[in-house]
Amino acid sequence: MKVEAVELRTLSMPLVSSFRGALGAETERELLVVRVIGPESEGWGECSALGSPLYSPEYVAGALAVVRDHLVPRLAAHAPEPTADQVAAALSPVKGHRMAKAALEMALLDAELRARGQSLASYLGATRASVPSGVAVGIAGSTAELLDTVARYREEGYLRVKLKIRPGWDVEPVRAVRERFGDLPLQVDANGSYSLADAAHLARLDAFELLLVEQPLPEDDLAGHAELARRLKTPICLDEPITSARAAADAISRGACRVVNLKAGRMGGYLEARRAHDTCTALGVPAWCGGMLETGLARAANLALAALPGFTLPGDISASGRYWHQDLTEPFVLGPDGHLPVPAGPGLGTAPLPEVLAQVTTSVTLLRWGS
Ligand code: MG
Repeated sequence: MKVEAVELRTLSMPLVSSFRGALGAETERELLVVRVIGPESEGWGECSALGSPLYSPEYVAGALAVVRDHLVPRLAAHAPEPTADQVAAALSPVKGHRMAKAALEMALLDAELRARGQSLASYLGATRASVPSGVAVGIAGSTAELLDTVARYREEGYLRVKLKIRPGWDVEPVRAVRERFGDLPLQVDANGSYSLADAAHLARLDAFELLLVEQPLPEDDLAGHAELARRLKTPICLDEPITSARAAADAISRGACRVVNLKAGRMGGYLEARRAHDTCTALGVPAWCGGMLETGLARAANLALAALPGFTLPGDISASGRYWHQDLTEPFVLGPDGHLPVPAGPGLGTAPLPEVLAQVTTSVTLLRWGS
């Protein structure tokens, strides 16, 4: 498509509640959004990097710099009228920075699909009009507080709950939730905070009929996960190491996981996420869509992705109200059946509300295409 300019905005949005656990204790979500502007169409992309490099090496200021100084100039030189499916190859000489690449690809994809009147869901091959909604619950101050939080989310209609765990906050809180909420679909995420020496302790979680235990060991320990998988009944799911379809196939073939959490930002974009979905489906491994404290932009794209047939478990795609008093877009509201609707309009099917965008913007950088 013809591109005239790329606008990079950093935003600061107040979160409803601080998200304690592995993502730190942020009360403001710093983020980067990318807007591709052309004569016939424009599109929006959201970078999933957080304000600080505490969850992944990427962070907002770094992502802004790499998009501005490396990704946009390189793409403009390689493809003066780029299409979204050229982005990954054109940017492959730049190592890493997948979340930044994903944001640029997402903006181009949105613009392209808007121009031709097709929804992202239809483009990706979605087969459902709504997806079941799950919620992630951070480390609580006490078991009583945790039970209150889970009770509130149950009342709101969430169909599956994920508890963050770490050494010192695992078996007892999980037991308390299981005892109080009976057959609630439940899973846990350790964000890599254990070691293989904790295998016997982690095996105590087998008593609670969890759907899965996510990322118990550090992200570079596939062999450890494969060994741990032999000692646990609960399926192991990997998150952080799944950086591509090939990484998913590798982890599965080594026996390091039986379930995969797919996050488009971590994989460099929704096109690679779709390939990873296809890989998981071909290998008979269930996938689900993870979350990164998204605004409505990436929430819309995640809903389109999660509507693909291989996403057989509820993901971490919650309603806007889980994170924001005021989302960047029209809010996503949970239906009475605990599902969120998959946007059907062209592209993402949503866009920032101008007055909200103006309010939360902390910087604007406008790059002329090809100059
Ligand atoms: Mg995770």
